[in-house]
Amino acid sequence: MLGFRALSKRPRGTRRLVLRTLAKVNLALEVLGKRDDGYHEIATVMQGVDLSDRLTLETADALSLHVSDPALPAGDDNLIVRAAAMLREAAGAPLGARIALEKRIPVAAGLGGGSSDAAATLWGLNRLWGLRWSRARLAALAVRLGMDVPFFLGPGRALATGRGERLKPLPGAGGYALVLVNPNFPLSTREVYGRVPAGWTAEARGTRRMVEALRTRSARAVAGALTNNLEAIVEPMVPAIRQMKSALLAAGALGAVMSGSGPTVFGVARSYDHARQIRRRVNRAGWSCWAVRTVSGAVIRAL
Ligand code: ATP
Repeated sequence: MLGFRALSKRPRGTRRLVLRTLAKVNLALEVLGKRDDGYHEIATVMQGVDLSDRLTLETADALSLHVSDPALPAGDDNLIVRAAAMLREAAGAPLGARIALEKRIPVAAGLGGGSSDAAATLWGLNRLWGLRWSRARLAALAVRLGMDVPFFLGPGRALATGRGERLKPLPGAGGYALVLVNPNFPLSTREVYGRVPAGWTAEARGTRRMVEALRTRSARAVAGALTNNLEAIVEPMVPAIRQMKSALLAAGALGAVMSGSGPTVFGVARSYDHARQIRRRVNRAGWSCWAVRTVSGAVIRAL
């Protein structure tokens, strides 16, 4: 999920690339059961939204990362560093880059920010280093960084199955305005999935319903098809989920649901103006709110 900002010649031959790395929400998410390999089988409709981090990549002798948010790791634990090191190793050349991340997407929020940064790093360094790898080749590397990462290399709306890495792009037409609400604390994806009871099974009915709803291009139909069966696990642990959803609905959202493993929730609005109105009504101390637009079609855009 990248917006291509600028590839420019800098003094002394340094080249620089500035990327927007977008967040995602899950319009539908169903955990279908646990697999023998320890992962969960899921079905989900992933949707890019225009809340973004800003990633600057510059050619350099060595790899380095500067992160605007001091709470985030800037070393080998950062997905950006892991992505860059993995690509460099796969390329088999002593390549370097000075990378800077301006973080705006809340961390461990169910919005896929880290995965998006990782995908942008692969995409951007492929270009900066002149590797000319295909998207499929980058995606094969991306999946080793996280099941969500390949999505961010593709178009803005996709059906994901398997462990979340098997992607089918969904028709791009039809954009929606959403309001994201985050309670300003993180929630670990690993912890949430760890609480899925043994023997849990579900069918992908809600996900199929969402795919149908998207065909209508109606915000009301999409709002009516929102679903996330992880809510049953997270809501008892995190009372804010129910409060944020109620606040969105009371403020006029057509429907509201948790994104990914939470704790961010989002509501569907009739229009972007309506989303901004809802954001103003929901805005309260302790929560962060954004009015956003969904992104569809080609997501790597030269601005
Ligand atoms: P998902 O929806 O894919 O589960 P998330 O939005 O819940 O993702 P992220 O924001 O991607 O979660 O972060 C998850 C963990 O990854 C955090 O504990 C964070 O410390 C670590 N992390 C490593 N690199 C990054 C990065 N560049 N941005 C955000 N988190 C990162």
